Amino acid sequence: MTLKAGQSRLETKYNELKIQTMKQKTGLAAALLMTTLLTTGCGADRNAKDAQAENFQWHIDRFDDINVLRYRVPDFDSLTPRQKQFIYYLGQAALCGRDILYDQNCKYNLPVRRTLEAIYTTYDGDKTTDQWLAFEKYLKKVWFANGVHHHYSGDKFTPEFSAEYFDTLLAATPADKFGDIQGTLLDTVKAVIFDPTIYPKRVDQTAGVDMIAASACNYYNGVTQQEAEAFYTALTDTTDRQPVSYGLNSQLVKGADGKIVERVWSADGMYGPAIREIVKWLERAAAVADTPEQEAYTRTLIDYYKTGDLKRFDDYNVAWVQDTKSTVDYVNGFIENYGDPLGYKASWESTVNFKNLEATKTTQIISDNAQWFEDHSPIDPRYRKPQVKGVSAKVITVAMLGGDCYPATPIGINLPNADWIRRDHGSKSVTIANITAAYDAAAAGNGFAEEFILRPEDRELRAKWGTVGNNLHTDLHECLGHASGQLAEGVRGDELKNYGSTLEEARADLFALYYMNDPKLVELGVIPTLDVAKAEYNNYMMNGLMTQLTRIEPGKNIEEAHMRNRALIAGWVYERGKADRVVEFVTEAGKTYVVVNDYDKLRELFGELLREIQRIKSEGDFKAGMELVERYGVKVDPTLHSEVLKRYAALNIAPYSGFVNPRYVPVLDEAGAMTDVRIEYPTDYVDQMLTYSSEYSFLPNRN
Ligand code: ZN
Repeated sequence: MTLKAGQSRLETKYNELKIQTMKQKTGLAAALLMTTLLTTGCGADRNAKDAQAENFQWHIDRFDDINVLRYRVPDFDSLTPRQKQFIYYLGQAALCGRDILYDQNCKYNLPVRRTLEAIYTTYDGDKTTDQWLAFEKYLKKVWFANGVHHHYSGDKFTPEFSAEYFDTLLAATPADKFGDIQGTLLDTVKAVIFDPTIYPKRVDQTAGVDMIAASACNYYNGVTQQEAEAFYTALTDTTDRQPVSYGLNSQLVKGADGKIVERVWSADGMYGPAIREIVKWLERAAAVADTPEQEAYTRTLIDYYKTGDLKRFDDYNVAWVQDTKSTVDYVNGFIENYGDPLGYKASWESTVNFKNLEATKTTQIISDNAQWFEDHSPIDPRYRKPQVKGVSAKVITVAMLGGDCYPATPIGINLPNADWIRRDHGSKSVTIANITAAYDAAAAGNGFAEEFILRPEDRELRAKWGTVGNNLHTDLHECLGHASGQLAEGVRGDELKNYGSTLEEARADLFALYYMNDPKLVELGVIPTLDVAKAEYNNYMMNGLMTQLTRIEPGKNIEEAHMRNRALIAGWVYERGKADRVVEFVTEAGKTYVVVNDYDKLRELFGELLREIQRIKSEGDFKAGMELVERYGVKVDPTLHSEVLKRYAALNIAPYSGFVNPRYVPVLDEAGAMTDVRIEYPTDYVDQMLTYSSEYSFLPNRN
């Protein structure tokens, strides 16, 4: 239940941690985030005390459409030695499942990676030729995507070096470096790399095709889509109020006897060698957990890994979701099912994190005052909630990323995914502040603000308050916006159909935008000045009217719900305020800019639209909802679109980003006992990948 590439995974900040997405992995370049998220220049507001961040080297590599960045772990040193030790062990566990993901993505990914690495680490010929550089780029891409398919689009990479050149590299490498990758397996490796007809897509969900046959992922072996669906339909008991997540942790295979069985991923099953390593580190972690409860559910997780029993995984999740006390927290397991075209199987991933106490205070204040905001909302009083409960979300600092969270990284996570656990026990919603801060910091100086913002004072506002405004918008949107309002009697809530999610996003965005510019926020101490609102209003209008078009292909309409919502809001208030020049398009030297002239009037317009969209939702007025979305949220002005695309392309900003991890070094006393943990920030992407491949590679080439 996570959002997958190509759609709303982009929608980091505004995305629904609640409604549709359990997790958003952005993989976006910092600058694209800026346009999407209205983020801004000098980031790290949430880490204001992190003085060293200013001189931190964020960028460490760039190849193809990828930027490799680093993230900082501010406040790591403020943790206790025991907590640091806990993070160290969890961090080790987070790295041990890397090979699992490679094999899940495609069954030849491990032999492909190892063949490339064998060549890369032994070749001593000319490393300045175009062919070698193309080979190196290809390997960097494979590392980044955990396989031969693009991490975001899922399309197989096309090598820019020739098969003949590859043969010379193979010949120049001592045969024993390839281990058991010889003969037909080596031939297959070559075919996987060079033949575009083999495994063209990691996940193919085209209607009408056998999605299992068409997809390169390794979740099924020898079964058709129909057989797989029949297998899991037969397991499903519709009267079970607490069903396990059938199929989550196994490969489905047809044996020689024609029988279809699951190969379960467990300590003694498929992927056993890697899972036993994960278990080993989790056992050490459990002994230094933050709380007895955390130790207990960590042991439940270990038990699940040992047995493969999905009931134990649910037990773990139920206990985990109720743990709001622990400072250090983690995700480790088969979690998200986007890599499986049928949505049963989960890819392996891990994150290790701890609470950002400072930033969580803001969400707490907002949450505590939820009723005040509801009572003063500019909507029809009949549609206000008499008793509103703010959703509390915590802000975290991530300390380690593994599996499907590395190097491309989520910036928000909402787990667990099991519907019944969410229904009966709720979910944990987190924003990963240090990753957002890293994106923001890395985006500073990429030329985006200079290109698209006309007035110097607006650029200054953005540099000073952009990130604060963006984060506040997210907090208001998530903690209050979606939780606000109520339906009229007799309205079910699904009347708006395919326009429902766009209008719901618009409602939450408008709630945030309306209150953004309210003196109450200054009074509560949430923000120091309403300049924050100006920065956010500038960004929101520029993005909604213009710069989000950088993500639309020429000739296409706006499809994605969050983008439609932003276009709708920006387009509607622009038109309503046109006579008063509240917001204007200004052309200078042939370039178009969006300029906000009247912030207070703009706030009123946001309030008016909020009132109307709340009415539409509360009354289930499909026709009015459809007309709003179709009129303002879908169509693209082709002239402005092509201008924006051209200007954006000239900035040469990589569309995707990912991160290398910090390194944690145990500090030992004379007896060899761990007394503390030191953090280091490596600067070499290739070195980290090769290190992981040599130190955390536990699976054979064929699993
Ligand atoms: Zn939302």
